[in-house]
Amino acid sequence: MARIPVMAGNWKMNKTVDEAVDLVKQLKSSVSGVKDVEVVVAPPFTALYAVQREIKGSSIHLAAQTLFWEKKGAFTGEISPLMIREAGCEYVIIGHSERRQFFGETDESVNRRIKAALGQGLKPIFCIGETLKEREEGKTFSVIERQLEGGLKGFGEKEVLPIIIAYEPVWAIGTGKTATPQQAQEVHRFIREKVGRLYSKDLAEKIRIQYGGSVTPENVKGLMEQDDIDGALVGGASLKSETFSKIVRFREI
Ligand code: PEP
Repeated sequence: MARIPVMAGNWKMNKTVDEAVDLVKQLKSSVSGVKDVEVVVAPPFTALYAVQREIKGSSIHLAAQTLFWEKKGAFTGEISPLMIREAGCEYVIIGHSERRQFFGETDESVNRRIKAALGQGLKPIFCIGETLKEREEGKTFSVIERQLEGGLKGFGEKEVLPIIIAYEPVWAIGTGKTATPQQAQEVHRFIREKVGRLYSKDLAEKIRIQYGGSVTPENVKGLMEQDDIDGALVGGASLKSETFSKIVRFREI
């Protein structure tokens, strides 16, 4: 079964509302006509609604960068699944390594967030990945296994199907150091096999696994040639339509 590649731009804490609208306007025209690639952008919360208005009727999909699991209440500074859904999001990034590193997210809280997202009909982009220290200590696969089991705990096959898994080695994020296509493929294969053991071979074949970590127009083709890489989660290179649209158009490189 062919999996449709998904290219997602994580804008992180960048772009004012005006800048976000400008960027997505340019992106709309630079990716128009691209077939068989799903394009997702994840602006900061403040720009979600304005970007949603701009992409209406286009093939670009909207994501938030995180959420909180409660529906509403006294949780100052947090945002609920309902709120981001209402702002027009279809996807939500969950468990990004920056959230794990700077905001104390754990496998358990990631699991609660995924559950809340699914409950609101949002499709999670579930991030996992090892640090440099863990890789050097030979712990890559055990870390990935722990994050997968923890993040997906309690979910049945039907709930897991809409989830996109993003393998993002922490040492490759924002560092300019990309995993080689072979290094990435090795972990992607491992993830797919693990999903197969946890659920079924059928689900493992269907689920999409993105690579993230310093993806650029220069390295995207080699990554996308790998059997188990189904797209990219892109930080820095998604902040300009020129570079992100080249990544989206990886087949033309
Ligand atoms: C990311 O933020 O998920 C990411 C992969 O960033 P960058 O592409 O800048 O490494």
